Amino acid sequence: MNKAGAIISGKCPRCHQGDIFKTSAFNLLAFYKMNPQCSECGLHYEREPGFFFGAMYISYAFSVAIFVAVGVALSFLGDFSLEIYLLAIIGVIALLLPFLFRYSRILFLYLFGGVDYEPAYKKKVSEVG
Ligand SMILES: [Zn+2]
Repeated sequence: MNKAGAIISGKCPRCHQGDIFKTSAFNLLAFYKMNPQCSECGLHYEREPGFFFGAMYISYAFSVAIFVAVGVALSFLGDFSLEIYLLAIIGVIALLLPFLFRYSRILFLYLFGGVDYEPAYKKKVSEVG
């Protein structure tokens, strides 16, 4: 699996095999639950205590992009009141919340986790014992 595919499907940045999150994004009661480490190569996803606080900046950037996209789309569709704009933007962000949460963490891990793709990592570990 290439890097883009691994990011989209939420796989480990080191081996592109293990899942970062425990459940599907559509499981509304548990979409935020992460595996502590990769089931395939053992990489600890939380690189240091509080590592994922930084993902809030990516989540913020996603929210601003959605805010602008929904605003522009509505402005082309018709002449709506401010309340309609706000409800539409809040509604779209609420609907996409599981994806915003997960992809902000996944991207932050890939960008700032300091982990390179090593497809043979598991093999190395098993050779050592
Ligand atoms: Zn892994």
